[in-house]
Amino acid sequence: MGAGMLDEMRVEPPGDAPRPMPSDDAHLADHLQAALNGVPAAIFTFDQSLNLIFANDRVTTLLGAAPEQLAECSTVFDLLAACKGLDYVTAQRVGGAVLAATASNEPRHPPIALSPGDAKTAFNLQISKSGSDHWMVLFEDVTARRAAESEAIPQTLRDPLTGLPNRKHLNDRIADVVATVIGRTQVWMILVDLDRFKTVNDTLGHPIGDAVLKIVGRRLTSAMRDSDEVARLGGDEFALLIRGRPEPEAVATVARRLIDVLGRPYLIEGHLIHIGASLGIASSQDISEHDHLFKNADLALYAAKKAGRNTFSFFDPAMEARAHKRRAMEIDLRKAIALRQFELHYQPQIDLDLNTITGFEALVRWRHPEHGLVPPNDFIPLAEEIGLIVAIGEWVLREACRDAVHWPESISVAVNVSPCQFENAAALVTSIEKALKASGLPGNRLEVEITESVLLRKESAVLSALHAMRALGVRIAMDDFGTGYSSLSQLSSFPFDKIKIDRSFVTSKGDCKDQNAIVRAITALGISLGMATIAEGVETSEELARIRANGCTSVQGYHFSRPLPIEQVDGLIAGFAARHPIATPQAA
Ligand code: C2E
Ligand code: MG
Ligand code: MG
Repeated sequence: MGAGMLDEMRVEPPGDAPRPMPSDDAHLADHLQAALNGVPAAIFTFDQSLNLIFANDRVTTLLGAAPEQLAECSTVFDLLAACKGLDYVTAQRVGGAVLAATASNEPRHPPIALSPGDAKTAFNLQISKSGSDHWMVLFEDVTARRAAESEAIPQTLRDPLTGLPNRKHLNDRIADVVATVIGRTQVWMILVDLDRFKTVNDTLGHPIGDAVLKIVGRRLTSAMRDSDEVARLGGDEFALLIRGRPEPEAVATVARRLIDVLGRPYLIEGHLIHIGASLGIASSQDISEHDHLFKNADLALYAAKKAGRNTFSFFDPAMEARAHKRRAMEIDLRKAIALRQFELHYQPQIDLDLNTITGFEALVRWRHPEHGLVPPNDFIPLAEEIGLIVAIGEWVLREACRDAVHWPESISVAVNVSPCQFENAAALVTSIEKALKASGLPGNRLEVEITESVLLRKESAVLSALHAMRALGVRIAMDDFGTGYSSLSQLSSFPFDKIKIDRSFVTSKGDCKDQNAIVRAITALGISLGMATIAEGVETSEELARIRANGCTSVQGYHFSRPLPIEQVDGLIAGFAARHPIATPQAA
């Protein structure tokens, strides 16, 4: 196709007479235009600067661009915007592919599968270059072919919602395909798990959730090659099988593309929905049996989620050892409550002005028969993951209230509550109520410590639970203040009774100028908001003096005492005043 001729073939509304052109070239151009209009594919051409040169009739009939609008288009992007048959995401994809092609300047590009809009149609997109400055985009309508292909998979092996192959079909395929390539890098599996999908279902309802899943299925299909397999495993889990020995870097590129495509907004019934995706990737190289492909991809997926979601991980054999350890711990943890292996240690909170203990923070420990005393950071995250935290949390509340009721009336107890316990916020309030009632501890001697992540969800159930706790007389403290990324804004979501200044601002580092300024600011903020402040993790007399000089008069930390078993608490209370004579700010 001669460049000079196409230059003259400006976009004309289909059906209208082409504009007059110089004799010979014009004649040939007429023929070409007529020929291109006869091709059963939508075609448009453009130059290196993305100026539109020509579009055939099928752009109207296949892609839904109105002829009068088409006549107004001067660039590729005008045309894509005019194509009503392409949804926003698909049009963006085509635009991106055009930009990538012209930037690479390669004459031919691999076809891209597209399922725009309602997915009743399917296209193969081809971008190619002819001559020095002419590009052509061709949309081949492959709806019928795709339908025939998917007809080939019986209904029983398909997921009814998305129409994709189901888990059973994928398992059969893996068994067929993988059996011969075990130990070689010839097949990759990518497991896809949607992030925040549950929230969509919970807040917008199942019909909207289903619509999201359908679009996810379409986006996945259109982001992959025809030779790849895409299946829905159930819930918000999808799996992809890539054949053809691609290098890990190429698979990583696919993974990045999938995260990008799935992370784009979903517009459903007027709701603009944002979700993300975590991906686990495994190759046939690392397996000795075909079902290990699934297992390995699953381990990699777990790692991707742990790494903060919206990312991907490749399987690594070390993951297996970690999973083993985790499973063993999970089994032990499930037995621990019944076997009474948890215990509470108490760390005093001191009022520097009064030089008295005003409260104790209850800190849970797990006395494991083989591993000894396990600190909470080593088992609480797992307990949260497997839902055991609710039972552990209830035990902590009951035990702490039962212990505290024997202390002097001026001493209260602070209990840490996990964000997971707020998933059923009403049940949490009930268990607090029960713990108070069963122990006889007045509500005003119990303090609940929460972290800001509890408030991030801004759910009304969380706020009403906090208010219900307040109504029982219970005080609410914000723990680890300053470590989150929006701590300040969280302070306005709820009138906290206390702010716990995180240890990171207390531990002496260098000249401590910044830390001092932060402690001063938080203390001042507490005063103006009517919230008490306490500094956590005071280890040395130097830190104590600094905290005090910056206006904070309530502290907790190893300087006074490590968390102690209940048997030692009474002795600590009795001996405290004697061991810690009042320190003036100057003396400190
Ligand atoms: P947290 O609530 O911020 O508790 C303070 C942690 O700092 C405790 O660690 C405490 O032992 C430690 N600490 C206190 N003073 C000092 C000090 O001067 N220097 C240093 N380096 N550390 C100090 P622990 O007991 O290991 O607890 C860690 C975290 O585990 C707690 O942080 C809390 O988030 C969580 N946790 C503890 N008990 C429970 C519980 O019963 N339920 C829940 N959901 N979480 C708990
Ligand atoms: Mg705490
Ligand atoms: Mg803390």
